[in-house]
Amino acid sequence: FSPIHVIGGGLAGSEAAWQIAHAGVPVILHEMRGVRGTDAHKTDGLAELVCSNSFRSDDATANAVGVIHAEMRLANSVIMACADRHQVPAGGALAVDRDGFSEAVTATLAEHPLITVVREEVSGLPPEDWDQAIIATGPLTSPALAEAIRAQTGEDALAFFDAIAPIVHKDTIDMDICWYQSRYDKVGPGGTGKDYINCPMDEAQYNAFIDALIGGDTVGFKEWEGTPYFDGCLPIEIMAERGRETLRHGPMKPMGLTNAHNPTVKAYAVVQLRQDNALGTLYNMVGFQTKLRYGEQAEIFRMIPGLQNAEFARLGGLHRNTYIHSPVLLDHTLQLKSRPGLRFAGQITGCEGYVESASIGLLAGRFAAAERKGETLPPPPPTTAMGALLGHITGGHLVNDEEPGKRSFQPMNVNFGLFPDLAPGSIKKPEGVHRFRGKDKSVMKKNLMAARALADCRTWLGL
Ligand code: FAD
Repeated sequence: FSPIHVIGGGLAGSEAAWQIAHAGVPVILHEMRGVRGTDAHKTDGLAELVCSNSFRSDDATANAVGVIHAEMRLANSVIMACADRHQVPAGGALAVDRDGFSEAVTATLAEHPLITVVREEVSGLPPEDWDQAIIATGPLTSPALAEAIRAQTGEDALAFFDAIAPIVHKDTIDMDICWYQSRYDKVGPGGTGKDYINCPMDEAQYNAFIDALIGGDTVGFKEWEGTPYFDGCLPIEIMAERGRETLRHGPMKPMGLTNAHNPTVKAYAVVQLRQDNALGTLYNMVGFQTKLRYGEQAEIFRMIPGLQNAEFARLGGLHRNTYIHSPVLLDHTLQLKSRPGLRFAGQITGCEGYVESASIGLLAGRFAAAERKGETLPPPPPTTAMGALLGHITGGHLVNDEEPGKRSFQPMNVNFGLFPDLAPGSIKKPEGVHRFRGKDKSVMKKNLMAARALADCRTWLGL
């Protein structure tokens, strides 16, 4: 076979290269560190962890990250094998000795006879004679390559910062307080006039909320990130600081909305949540991108009536992050529709986190190797953690009813909200158990989803 080129030797590119080589196909891995650095990496090692040394929960029975770990182990992941070998104690989490881990990945790839590591910056799109290539250059893709990607994909299809609004599991929203309605009952394409969940606030609640936002502790930008504020995308706490009424005239405006539970009383302000995934299990808080610290976010956002018990699938953020508008650009095997043979992997596709990035590298590597060998590899089923994440990236996303085709696709960690629901009646009170509370049901739901994921992943892998 002629080689497949992988650009970027981070979490995703290292895993992709390994999977390709393991399938018996030669691979050339182009990594620029050693020749040119990034603002966050400190070494020349492959798969360097730029910040925390944690791969998060390793619980494969009740945590979606733990499930993706287990699936990757089943799929012979080099990232997971090296992480397991260099584990340090961290309770239920999988944390690693970062240097030992990165050195192990670097050595494992260097020793593989089908892998060649070339230290160079690829400063444009892969040349035409690289008929198969994977771009896995991460959140800090070098400017020259980012520019070339932008030229290929279009101006609006490549973002340099994310602007992440928190996402809530719908079944934790109190619908005795909230109601469904689109502003002025507007019916957009595919909409019903009831596309948003609305949370009402009276004046006292609004003022207390503004005080909490202004007083909240925030995370600063790194010096090299700059301050990427632009109008239309300001953090919610900055809007609150600009004037007590700003939010009430912005994302929290109450106009065109009537509280279905209390139609005669006009809400002073309204927080809107919009469906975030096709399954309808996740809702994002419209306009609530924020630099508040994670701990503070949960506390402050639970002040919102109806969200007092909210569980967050993702908290908000704003970071330097190069990523493409994958749901529009990529097919189900991570291939650029406008240039077959060119795939993307890792955080640049719109996933978030070390493990998620590596898992998308694993899939891209397998898809590319299968294609080179003339085989067809269907995507993993959406009931698996890898399939659910792939679905988020390549298509599970809705189109914004207000700006067709321009939905703000934002990066996401893997979480159970991305998985299809269980068959009706799956969650049953176990025999002999007296009390079966909401919390017990939620744990059972996670257990069942995790078990289903691993069984379906085994089938997909032919194990
Ligand atoms: P990376 O791991 O960044 O790998 C991309 C590689 O491509 C790099 O080695 C880079 O040198 C190389 N490259 C770039 N451009 C070129 C080019 N033109 N030619 C050749 N090579 C190139 N995630 C977490 O899970 N936990 C955290 O605590 C965390 N903290 C973070 C802190 C910061 C400051 C940043 C920026 C990100 C953080 N992330 C964190 C996200 C993390 O970067 C990703 O989860 C993960 O590293 C993404 O993997 P990747 O392979 O897509 O990209």
